[in-house]
Amino acid sequence: MAELKDFEGFAVTDVSDCTNVSKIKFTPKPFEDYDVDVKIKACGICGSDCHTISGQWGHVDLPVIVGHEIIGEVIRAGPKVSTLKVGDRVGVGAQVWACLKCENCKAGEETYCPHLVDTYNAKYADGSKAYGGYASHIRCHEYFTFKIPEKLKTESAAPMMCAGITTYAPLKKNFTGPGMKIGIIGVGGLGHFAIMWAKALGGEVYVFSRGDKKKADALKLGASHYVDSTVKDFHEPLTNKLDMILCCANSSQNFDLESYLRTLRINGKFVSVGLPEHPFTIKAQAFTSNACFFGSSHLGNREEMIEMLNLAAEKGIEPWNETIPISKEGVKKGLEKSFKNDVRYRVTLTDYEKSFN
Ligand SMILES: [Zn+2]
Ligand SMILES: [Zn+2]
Repeated sequence: MAELKDFEGFAVTDVSDCTNVSKIKFTPKPFEDYDVDVKIKACGICGSDCHTISGQWGHVDLPVIVGHEIIGEVIRAGPKVSTLKVGDRVGVGAQVWACLKCENCKAGEETYCPHLVDTYNAKYADGSKAYGGYASHIRCHEYFTFKIPEKLKTESAAPMMCAGITTYAPLKKNFTGPGMKIGIIGVGGLGHFAIMWAKALGGEVYVFSRGDKKKADALKLGASHYVDSTVKDFHEPLTNKLDMILCCANSSQNFDLESYLRTLRINGKFVSVGLPEHPFTIKAQAFTSNACFFGSSHLGNREEMIEMLNLAAEKGIEPWNETIPISKEGVKKGLEKSFKNDVRYRVTLTDYEKSFN
């Protein structure tokens, strides 16, 4: 088995010039019994990458190598690894470690482990830095490394590792059965996955977006109904109709949360996986007409990840995805497109073998 000491990657070294990456060598965490080394083939660009490198989400531990929608091939497996072998095509998402011993982990909720380690801009307990997927390789615990079904293309599977699971998990957890009426707010990286999953699970999908620009796309993705949320009283015909809303909007400005809540049935849930910079403002009274709930969700557990990948393979679900070969220029181009929201609906870095050997 290949034993690599150092990996290479495209790192952000200056928050004020964060799309200008530099190729650096780095030392991954020490190789442990349950670890695998993955030679990376593709990595999606996620909104979190942009929020992190620009400092919008707080402290950045420079140099940082982002990317948490990773697909690659196992080139080394630790002696205790039992779920994977060298040569397997695998994916790694936004989390690379959890204790697997605490109450949350034991309940199968490892994405809420108080000791979890994110894929980048994070440190392991021993102080080793975690580096993401704009890199030649990643070293990761097998529990957070997922075998990719044969039917899925590498570049299609990549965005599922974060945008896919972030939307799949809350839909699956709250799914009550065929015909469930599911509202999706926002048609972007997250929203376009949400529409496809909600439809694939058997839901009746209502999409909310500003204006009519996204209508054709929403219907093509599987929505049965499209609602222009800029129309006055858009919510009224839907009062108490929806079982759940998954909010994928990334802005809370001019966001009419109260009207959305009124579309929910009694005890209906509004789950926001979009993480706007600014707060939502709401009075408790807004929850009294239907006893609805407001909440969020973080990634998805191992079981949900495996289920999602199998569902995508079985139903032929693929993201609408643009690929860009990875290089200093490619990373810059991809990040700039994402910052400008000029993406329909995901960008994935590919052609790793040309940049790393
Ligand atoms: Zn992400
Ligand atoms: Zn734990």
